[in-house]
Amino acid sequence: MSEQSPGVDVVVVGGGIGGLANALALTLKGLRVRVLEQAHEFGEVGAGLQIAPNCTRILHHWGLLDEVKSLGVLPESIVMKDALNGDVLTRLDLRDVERRYGFPYMVIHRSDLHGTLLRACRRAGVELVNDVAVTGYEQAEGGAVAVHDGGRESAQVVLAADGLRSVARRIVSDDEPVSSAYVAYRGAVPFDQVAGLDAQPKDVVVHVGPRCHFVQYSLRQGEMFNQVAVFESPKALAGEADWGTPDELDAAFAATCDQVRAGLPLMWRDRWWRMYDREPIMNWVRGRIALTGDAAHPPLQYLAQGAVMAMEDAWVLSEHVGARGGAGAPGTSAGVDWDAALAAYNAVRPQHCRRVQTTARAWGNLWHHDGEKREWRNAVLRERDVYDYGYVDWLFGPTALTPGHLPPMFPEYGE
Ligand SMILES: Cc1cc2nc3c(=O)[nH]c(=O)nc-3n(C[C@H](O)[C@H](O)[C@H](O)COP(=O)(O)OP(=O)(O)OC[C@H]3O[C@@H](n4cnc5c(N)ncnc54)[C@H](O)[C@@H]3O)c2cc1C
Repeated sequence: MSEQSPGVDVVVVGGGIGGLANALALTLKGLRVRVLEQAHEFGEVGAGLQIAPNCTRILHHWGLLDEVKSLGVLPESIVMKDALNGDVLTRLDLRDVERRYGFPYMVIHRSDLHGTLLRACRRAGVELVNDVAVTGYEQAEGGAVAVHDGGRESAQVVLAADGLRSVARRIVSDDEPVSSAYVAYRGAVPFDQVAGLDAQPKDVVVHVGPRCHFVQYSLRQGEMFNQVAVFESPKALAGEADWGTPDELDAAFAATCDQVRAGLPLMWRDRWWRMYDREPIMNWVRGRIALTGDAAHPPLQYLAQGAVMAMEDAWVLSEHVGARGGAGAPGTSAGVDWDAALAAYNAVRPQHCRRVQTTARAWGNLWHHDGEKREWRNAVLRERDVYDYGYVDWLFGPTALTPGHLPPMFPEYGE
């Protein structure tokens, strides 16, 4: 087994959005970073991603916002509707959101965001290595080691961005992914295929219904239309292994309004995504090994903050590294006080991400109410002032670098 680490300060395991964001952010602070990705190519599977101002602020900081804007869409509103009767329940005015928070709310194809980060990593000099599956981790004098079939990669720090089923997470926790029994179907098609659908090209539309919801928005400057159909699987609840299948998709949406049912034939039916999260954990660091992205905090997707949190992690860690000796010309990183930087990161990010993970579960429950609870939910949402930002200020504002800067969550509601 060979030791392969000459000239590397940081090894990042995983080349998804989280891994690339970390690699870029640390390289911009003058560190030499190598990314190890198990897949044969760097890429993203899936369709659209929503990215809120707390993330576009960071993309701006990295000099990537204009590129991302040129690839995505800046919708005018998020409109929430009842999936059964199509009634509008509430909305967010996204032009006003941009005025309030200083940065836009965007939607973008995953592969376009990932591609932007990948190109930025290449320009910055990140070393990108494919076909390497990391199987173990070790602490070392003044650093850590990522172990794989072909060798060992040592560095001052190893960052594990290896996703929901992270191997590295076992170092700090013995928890397992938690199944929600919900499953997502996706579908992104050329916009001309949805001409008959009453598609709203300038809105993100979220239909919330009993044990299901349906999301629609445009992508790629309006050239594509993206849909996500999510539902609770009766087979999952019954403990069957083969759950989330297309017959369940059709049954789950049978009672929904015309606009939702008209969109269902456009979903990809050969692939579906079972929805898992994990219990929040409050420690992501052991020695010189640290978790980031979904490896640290996989949420249910109802707040659309999973990839956003991964990019926030990257920005926060790199700012702490920069403040502790990381800034400077490339190759001058020897003086970083890593223990202090990792401690500062670990002091703030788990607290914020715990809030997002637990709120996402509660928000999903609210979306999926039936019967009297659905009536109550609809009444509450209808009464909401469109310009009341009490529910999102804590998310969309500037990312906190320290626990003291974490905003209160719902101060206007006494919490
Ligand atoms: C239906 C759905 C909708 C969503 N919508 C949104 C949204 O609108 N907005 C948002 O912000 N988030 C959204 N998310 C969440 C978001 O997709 C994830 O939080 C984000 O992609 C996590 O990125 P990551 O890089 O941490 O992990 P991953 O994307 O899982 O990347 C992990 C990478 O590590 C590699 N890897 C794994 N194990 C190893 C190993 N042992 N060795 C080497 N490499 C390894 C993998 O191949 C992969 O490339 C959504 C999720 C779902 C399922």
